[in-house]
Amino acid sequence: MLFSKLVGFYERIEAITGRIEMTNLLVQLLKETPPEIIDKVVYLTLGEIYPPFIGLELGVADRLALRAVKLASGMSEREIDRAYKELGDVGLVGERMLAKRSQATLFMEQLTVEDVYSALEKIAKASGEGSMETKVQILSGLLASAQPKEAKYILRIVTGKMRLGIADMTILDALAIVFGGGKEARDLFERAYNLSSDIGYVAKVAAQEGLEGIKKFKITVGKPIRPMLAERLSSAEEILQKIGGKCIAEYKYDGERMQIHKRGDEVLIFSRRLENITSQYPDVVELVKQHVKAGEAILECECVAVDPETGDMLPFQELMHRKRKHDIHKAIEQYPVNVYFFEALYVDGKDLTLEPLEIRRKTLESIIEEGERVKLSKAIITEDPNEIEKFFHEAIEEGCEGLVVKALGKEAIYRAGARGWLWIKLKRSYKSEMMDTVDLVVVGAFHGRGKRSGTYGALLMAAYDKRKDVFQSVCKVGSGFTDEDLQKLPELLEPYKIPHRHARVETGMEADIWFEPKIVLEIIGDEITISPIHRAAWSMIKEGYGLAIRFPRFTGRYRFDKAPEDATTTDEILEMYRRQLKKLTPTPPGGQEVT
Ligand code: ATP
Repeated sequence: MLFSKLVGFYERIEAITGRIEMTNLLVQLLKETPPEIIDKVVYLTLGEIYPPFIGLELGVADRLALRAVKLASGMSEREIDRAYKELGDVGLVGERMLAKRSQATLFMEQLTVEDVYSALEKIAKASGEGSMETKVQILSGLLASAQPKEAKYILRIVTGKMRLGIADMTILDALAIVFGGGKEARDLFERAYNLSSDIGYVAKVAAQEGLEGIKKFKITVGKPIRPMLAERLSSAEEILQKIGGKCIAEYKYDGERMQIHKRGDEVLIFSRRLENITSQYPDVVELVKQHVKAGEAILECECVAVDPETGDMLPFQELMHRKRKHDIHKAIEQYPVNVYFFEALYVDGKDLTLEPLEIRRKTLESIIEEGERVKLSKAIITEDPNEIEKFFHEAIEEGCEGLVVKALGKEAIYRAGARGWLWIKLKRSYKSEMMDTVDLVVVGAFHGRGKRSGTYGALLMAAYDKRKDVFQSVCKVGSGFTDEDLQKLPELLEPYKIPHRHARVETGMEADIWFEPKIVLEIIGDEITISPIHRAAWSMIKEGYGLAIRFPRFTGRYRFDKAPEDATTTDEILEMYRRQLKKLTPTPPGGQEVT
């Protein structure tokens, strides 16, 4: 196919603004395009040469493109600059300059679409030292063989400024008309697109195999599936009603969504926006190789930053350290991650997207070998709103954002690329920040793992309830301890070790080691939340719930000057919680966390 023919269509498309007319022109173009190159025509029309997830861009700056125009046209730099100032569009500059060029172009061979495409591909792939020069050389060679109008579009494509106003969705409309017999087939085409994120590939399958090919469209490892998204509601009752009475509720981890593609030892990671982020997570690649027991798989997980000392989850912002290009290996050590798998979309040749969630989850369970850093998302199956709410508060306390509640039953397929009511998220509508430090009493400890084996991994901390004269737990703290602290603590606490929970301690947590309440430490956290596990201010805000400190850290101050009864009281914690809420909401919500 001659490139000039394609350019003829571009000229006509550029001249119109209506979507229907545009679709009609696209229909005509696709009909006249040979099936073998339809993918290339589609990419070029969108101003690309590959689908975006490949992550290979032409990346030619205007300045560089103008140099190529100079070489191809023989015009002076001054003249080119003047035209660029006047027109502001490299494409138009190229068109004008090439129309003025001195060499005879009459007997020049005409460019084909393949010629243009393969030259652009070479430009995109040129990398490393001297690559800018290579790009200019290839581009000027291409322009030298181009007619002025062809040059206009070549230049717009290489500089990333095609802007014909055509989106993937318009192309899907046109494909459905040409190869599906009309708009009725549109959903099938859209599904194919959602399963591959590759509009060029969908066009090729349609052109070569017709509607049948689209109906049988297959998932390909390496082509990302557009993610299923959740709706949002604000109470467990509403969610259960909407979802049909029974659900699986999962922790909503606060990290980065990943779609993992595995074929043998080859692993690719795509972000929620379907960018290839494999290079940022070499550790996740390794974890996948070790823990995913399938030859081929497409899975989804949430990747969460964790405290390297305690394994506790950290807020999402901590993942930002992974965005840097250099020293990624240092970042891996300083900012390790855990992955929590929640979906299996494709496993060993089987497309699971149309299977119900129960089957997908079972498949996931059968191929993931859980370990310290790789787990399935924590989940419960329930019909009880109270149970959902309790699970929600547990999730918040552990550092999650809330829950994603998912429908069960045979309708509960994976709806690629859609936001719908099969998944509903339950998040908090506000956050109460903790301003002050508190002084808490050590009442228990948990064995350390990894670097902390042999010492404590975390301590169970309690506030003092004056009225009852007891110590009620408010958090498990593992962060903020130096190596020195970790050495010192077992020694310091040894004299207070007891074989069971102290009679004056109230908690819903099972510690590995118990202590007589004696040692007071200063703690700071991000906020105070309500908790089904911790016992401070029990049932004062909400029946069956206490208060807890989220993301607690040791400040480094041992309060040897304080007796356990001088520790922060549960009334103070309650007051802090109320004050924070008042600051954030004009009318205190009476403890109703989920609003
Ligand atoms: P948000 O900002 O709330 O994450 P979003 O638009 O990115 O919104 P939604 O579909 O609304 O995404 O919410 C689901 C998101 O929650 C997923 O994109 C995923 O990143 C994250 N997530 C965490 N845990 C889970 C889980 N167990 N199941 C599904 N999604 C989860």
